[in-house]
Amino acid sequence: MELFESSKSILQEIKLDSSKFKNIRLLVKRDDLIHPEVSGNKWRKLKYNIELVQFQKKDGILTFGGAYSNHLLATAAACQLAGMKSIGIVRGEELTATSNDNLKRCSELGMELLFVPRESYDERNEKSCQEGWKEAYPSFLLIPEGGSNYYGLVGCQEIWKELPDQVDHLFVAQGTTTTSCGLLVGSNENTTLHVVPVLKGFDSTAEMRKQLFPFLIDEETITEYINRVEVHSESHFGGYGKWNQELIDFIQDRKAEFDLPLDKIYTGKAFYALMNWLEQQDFQTPQTVIFLHTGGLQNGSV
Ligand SMILES: *Cc1c(COP(=O)(O)O)cnc(C)c1O
Repeated sequence: MELFESSKSILQEIKLDSSKFKNIRLLVKRDDLIHPEVSGNKWRKLKYNIELVQFQKKDGILTFGGAYSNHLLATAAACQLAGMKSIGIVRGEELTATSNDNLKRCSELGMELLFVPRESYDERNEKSCQEGWKEAYPSFLLIPEGGSNYYGLVGCQEIWKELPDQVDHLFVAQGTTTTSCGLLVGSNENTTLHVVPVLKGFDSTAEMRKQLFPFLIDEETITEYINRVEVHSESHFGGYGKWNQELIDFIQDRKAEFDLPLDKIYTGKAFYALMNWLEQQDFQTPQTVIFLHTGGLQNGSV
């Protein structure tokens, strides 16, 4: 089996029964189904990074994450499938490889886990720190937290190959913005990209501008693209890793109603924003709305 093969990611049609939604065609792009552990957007983001390791004949990937990081798990699983090594730098020196199921699984998959104090973890993106890791592990490709690099963005851009020709609205949860930026770079002016940051007080468009700069180069072009983005900043439920009973109920109800499993860290919040937005629309012409299911069910199921 090919490691990077996305045929399991179907477009699930969601039947909205109220006549209010008669002009809406809602499809969920089920990237959560691609692989049980290299799930969703993490699979998209790792694809070209894994290839790069192979081209450069390195031993594997060194990357960063918190104790419940979907990216660490995805990296551990993808590297194992690809027959390469992985090293995970984990935030929190008090943790061990048995602190929780996520870390246990990473370690079972062969990932070497290194636990660092929070203060030094927070310097992970600084040049001196990166140089230090590169020197210590020269045969490993360094990938930032969340798989957030050039190759990650290009992998996410490819989702367009698997979407219908006409997409009026596309909804996606946002952490580092890599996935949303990849989608934006691959979009045309007919699509509005709806982003739902899961962090509280997150400046989505400012963060996206930073990520888009290497691709679009000048501020005017970046602005042209950013004008197609609509930010839904009121669905973070208190911030990253936070949720309440309303969100849990919402997720359970959607599972029952649409047979759609959502996680409580990312996709539950994004789908909540989508349903709220839909309630406020009154479309007179047919609209195709896509929700990208970015995965996250291993660590965030309810
Ligand atoms: C990591 C993750 C995201 C965030 O994606 P970014 O590219 O960092 O914006 C969204 N959804 C799920 C399920 C994730 O695991």
